[in-house]
Amino acid sequence: MRVSTGRANQSDSRMFNVVVEGYGIGQQRQAERVFTVPFGQLQSTIQTIARQGGVITGVFAIDHASDGGAAAPAAAESVPASAHGQAAPGQASAESATTAPRPAVSHATSHAAVPVNTYKPKSPFVGTVTENYSLVGEGAIGRVNHITFDLAGGDPQLEYIEGQSIGIIPDGTDANGKPHKLRLYSIASTRHGDNMAGHTVSLCVRQLQYEKDGETINGVCSTFLCDIEPGAKVKITGPVGKEMLLPDDEEANVIMLATGTGIAPMRAYLRRMFEPAEREKNGWNFRGKAWLFMGAPKTPNLLYDADFEHYQSQFPDNFRYTKAISREQQNTRGGRMYIQDRVLEHADEIFAMIENPKTHVYMCGLKGMEPGIDEAMTTAAAAKGLNWSELRPALKKAERWHVETY
Ligand SMILES: Cc1cc2nc3c(=O)[nH]c(=O)nc-3n(C[C@H](O)[C@H](O)[C@H](O)COP(=O)(O)OP(=O)(O)OC[C@H]3O[C@@H](n4cnc5c(N)ncnc54)[C@H](O)[C@@H]3O)c2cc1C
Repeated sequence: MRVSTGRANQSDSRMFNVVVEGYGIGQQRQAERVFTVPFGQLQSTIQTIARQGGVITGVFAIDHASDGGAAAPAAAESVPASAHGQAAPGQASAESATTAPRPAVSHATSHAAVPVNTYKPKSPFVGTVTENYSLVGEGAIGRVNHITFDLAGGDPQLEYIEGQSIGIIPDGTDANGKPHKLRLYSIASTRHGDNMAGHTVSLCVRQLQYEKDGETINGVCSTFLCDIEPGAKVKITGPVGKEMLLPDDEEANVIMLATGTGIAPMRAYLRRMFEPAEREKNGWNFRGKAWLFMGAPKTPNLLYDADFEHYQSQFPDNFRYTKAISREQQNTRGGRMYIQDRVLEHADEIFAMIENPKTHVYMCGLKGMEPGIDEAMTTAAAAKGLNWSELRPALKKAERWHVETY
């Protein structure tokens, strides 16, 4: 089996296109501009752009061959030289500053350019709740809500990309009278936000509830969020996380394994791939195969189910949606159908996909899902004469095995 280590082996001689908005003077600030810089100058260029108020909407490696075949976006490839002689940021040459044609290209997953910790716990951004609605149907187990925050007016603006998380600091104090600590939540929206305005973030939150000494205990932050009303102000930190970023390659294959609220990053990926407004705006036309395995206890607990069914009907060649509904479906042994049973059922197809170096696997949900998936992958690998305990670290090293469990 071939495991691509393309990313890990990339050399420092690569050139990058940095796509910027709001940089320069006069009319230049309205234009999207592209700076071409070598890898060694990427960091200083990014810092200079940020210092001067520019918003980086994309960073792309130009070297196709060393990027596992990932194509640089058309807009960054053949841009006319700018007529304006604005000094380029950092070490970037002024000649390389150009104005890119529309549509805007903003698929930034180069790790160096991914925003992190724009807002820290000591000085969080205060966002405003715009929406809070239930994601589960009648008869579901527990409470899961979709909550959206307005991030407008931040200085700097709190920006994020698909696959990252944000921190929420709930109001109030803990048992020692100290302010509550932040809790992390995977972002469920794309960088454009659910309303495509570019300054909102959405979360998918399950209220933690458990019994202790005959009493029902409610989780502090998850209850705070599930109960929150539109208009309320909330302390937000981050964004954080680079583990769950999507590949740049429009022809990548993406296998997603999600249970419960682990669907949050997958929802962002799938919107980015298949929502018409997203495709139009992001200039990233996904052409690979996406396969979502979703685990839930009951049908009304399937989150965003109608959206995923719709994507499957609209993009049958590119999206497949497989559900494991533990309390309603049976596995081949007559037991409850969990996500790992679905993985085993489709092991041949999954492994055929993994043999392709363009395939990435993403797993998100409760920590408890990991042993089951590992066991299924071990069995499936063994049936093909492969050793999963060797293969998994190789995939991880190649940045093709992405796990975020909590
Ligand atoms: C990277 C990351 C992403 C995450 N994304 C999401 C997400 O998208 N959606 C989401 O809903 N959550 C997500 N979480 C989990 C989230 O951060 C919180 O941990 C969760 O909401 C619970 O916080 P809380 O304040 O409600 O609970 P707390 O009041 O902090 O209570 C949690 C504590 O309760 C105790 N406890 C929990 N269960 C039991 C039990 N059965 N018996 C006894 N004690 C128990 C444990 O001590 C636990 O530490 C994520 C976590 C991480 C690290």
